[in-house]
Amino acid sequence: EERVVIVGAGMAGVQTAVALREQGWRGAISVLGAEPHQPYDRPPLSKAVLLGKAEGSAFEVDFASLGIELELGREVTGLRADEHLLETGTGPVPYDVLVIATGAEPLALPGSEDVPGVHLLRTLDDAERLRPVLARQHDVVAVGAGWIGAEFATAAREAGCRVTVVEAAELPLAGAMPPEVAVHMSRWYADSGARLLTGARVAAVEPGAVLLADGTRLTADAVVVGIGARPATGWLAGSGIALAADHSVVTDDRLRTSLPDVYAVGDCASFPSARYGERLLVHHWDNALQGPRTVAANIVHGPAESPVYDPVPYFWSEQFGRFVQYAGHHAAADELLWRGDPDSAAWTVCWLRAGVLVALLAVGRPRDLAQGRKLIERGAALDRAKAADASVPLKSA
Ligand code: FAD
Repeated sequence: EERVVIVGAGMAGVQTAVALREQGWRGAISVLGAEPHQPYDRPPLSKAVLLGKAEGSAFEVDFASLGIELELGREVTGLRADEHLLETGTGPVPYDVLVIATGAEPLALPGSEDVPGVHLLRTLDDAERLRPVLARQHDVVAVGAGWIGAEFATAAREAGCRVTVVEAAELPLAGAMPPEVAVHMSRWYADSGARLLTGARVAAVEPGAVLLADGTRLTADAVVVGIGARPATGWLAGSGIALAADHSVVTDDRLRTSLPDVYAVGDCASFPSARYGERLLVHHWDNALQGPRTVAANIVHGPAESPVYDPVPYFWSEQFGRFVQYAGHHAAADELLWRGDPDSAAWTVCWLRAGVLVALLAVGRPRDLAQGRKLIERGAALDRAKAADASVPLKSA
């Protein structure tokens, strides 16, 4: 009997296992996960789980009835591809087909790793450690005004904490959004009662305080570091598998790696996008849902019968009482088109390339997102004047 072994029991790993069964795989399936917990979903960790509104976020998957073998608390430490073997602390694991789905690891703030009261926010254990901090309504400092920093600040404000967010760039989400968009999002911090310090560099973190390069000392009963994440691929060093400079596993447009019988999917893998003409490393939930379907199809039916992977990326964020959604992928050179007033509660920004919609950000306008996502998929051209009128639905020219 052929065995698919999946390394990583997060969204991408679990979805691969489920998709394999859905698409008719009859062989064995094993999922090996380093964390001891029943596999769970991450987005609630910075939202309901952090606030104690939900106990956990375990996936509702009946692994036993699907014939999926789960080995939790089992970390994979190496790959010997010539022998089709994985290494673990408790002995080798053979595979016929391997799927790498080890996700990403949050970056630590150098020098702060061992300081008490400094937290990351990636795992259920992280969220459980932070929950009592919020419940005690402490003074908290978030380092990094990205998606995680904004969502943490939102939850901490809702819990009644005093919140300061320290960001090295001049604006929040500096890597993801152009300044003319981010400037409007930066105001959400103050509206919620959080303090946002931009252009601010952390010089040192001490127990109880964060010191900035300009001499400012911020009281911090807890510090949450949200300065980015990178693919958890250290265990593949020396395996012969191709890794990119950003540490992602390099895959082709079917999510096959450089080694035979080895696929990679989710936050750990980058893929070539014909749609956008560049290699994409996507750290969002939808990619960990869609990618596994491509992997499963290629394993079950073979490449000739299976689609390539070229999604329109999608993600959402819930921050400062707003539902923020983004679809597509834009470059700095793309043309920006506003739809609605960015000082109001709901607005949308479109990115056009040669008149064609390539990406859109919708704040409190889920219908724009749904319509825009379809237009992006079709490569539709927009009539600028009509698209700028927020009172009529988004349509192709
Ligand atoms: P992971 O979820 O990271 O799963 C990988 C698993 O592999 C982990 O459990 C890890 O322990 C395990 N593993 C790693 N190395 C090994 C090893 N060597 N051996 C065995 N197991 C290993 N996305 C959105 O679109 N919207 C959101 O609102 C949103 N909110 C988020 C909030 C938080 C707090 C976080 C952390 C992420 C959020 N995301 C959100 C991103 C989304 O959760 C991720 O894109 C998604 O979890 C990726 O799934 P994955 O399976 O690739 O990786």
